[in-house]
Amino acid sequence: MIVLNEEKYARDVLTGRRTDVVSIIEKISLIARYNCHILHKSDDESYRSIVSWLEKHHNIFCEQNYSNIISKYIAKAKKSPFYHIDSIKITKNEMDIIQSQKNLRYEKLLFVLLCLAKLQKVSYKFDNNLITYDIGQLFKMARVSVPADTREDILHEFLLAGLIELPKKVDTRCLFVKFVDDVENDIALEIKEQDCNDLAYCYLYFVKKNNVFRCAKCKKLTKQSKKFGDICQECRESDGVARTLWCIDCGEEFVVDNKDTHSCRCAECQNEENKRKKRIWWQNNKANCIED
Ligand SMILES: [Zn+2]
Ligand SMILES: [Zn+2]
Repeated sequence: MIVLNEEKYARDVLTGRRTDVVSIIEKISLIARYNCHILHKSDDESYRSIVSWLEKHHNIFCEQNYSNIISKYIAKAKKSPFYHIDSIKITKNEMDIIQSQKNLRYEKLLFVLLCLAKLQKVSYKFDNNLITYDIGQLFKMARVSVPADTREDILHEFLLAGLIELPKKVDTRCLFVKFVDDVENDIALEIKEQDCNDLAYCYLYFVKKNNVFRCAKCKKLTKQSKKFGDICQECRESDGVARTLWCIDCGEEFVVDNKDTHSCRCAECQNEENKRKKRIWWQNNKANCIED
């Protein structure tokens, strides 16, 4: 998956809407950045909130082992605000190059490489369509499973075809994507946040292959036997009424409607937050009100 809206992504991890992030370092980093840039917590407040979140929601957590790491990420967080990209646009020309491969594995891999180039131009501010990648992760994102040797061979073929280029200083984690259009005219596909969870499905849906379809209920792209109709497995199995989330401030559980994609606090903390916002608004506007 790739992330277009980091603030939403971090909030979804914090509230338990997303439970697929396993790395404790990624969790610490996300919460530290959310605390710093969105909740404007002091370093001490941020530290306490990270520890209390991990104690509640990360299995087997010991503060002693992580206190230095948490402090390090709180300091680092200040320099890394969240990025937000509305969508990734693929031009007709870029899509033609991908489809001309006539090999679904290659097409999916090139599609992912192209999306990474467009994303990292914004997220890492890279020039010349440079990307940093992990080869295992790249193939996983493209849903291409081949032996490790074959992975290298495929990338080598892309290199020979001029579709990618390696940096002068040999670095196995970086490459240039060479078929990115400078001007985004004539858009063939615009990828929005909700489809970034699975770029391989996104491509397969576009080329109408492998029975990928959009769930009529949650709108997620998915793949399954046609006998289940156009509702995804998750929607079929969930009761569709309510779900339990974690409060972003106190960590207590609270229940929201399944369609609710924004709530992040229990009623009590939301009440406090509304009061706090009102106070700030009042302080900012007091001068104007008196002048009037
Ligand atoms: Zn669904
Ligand atoms: Zn709360």
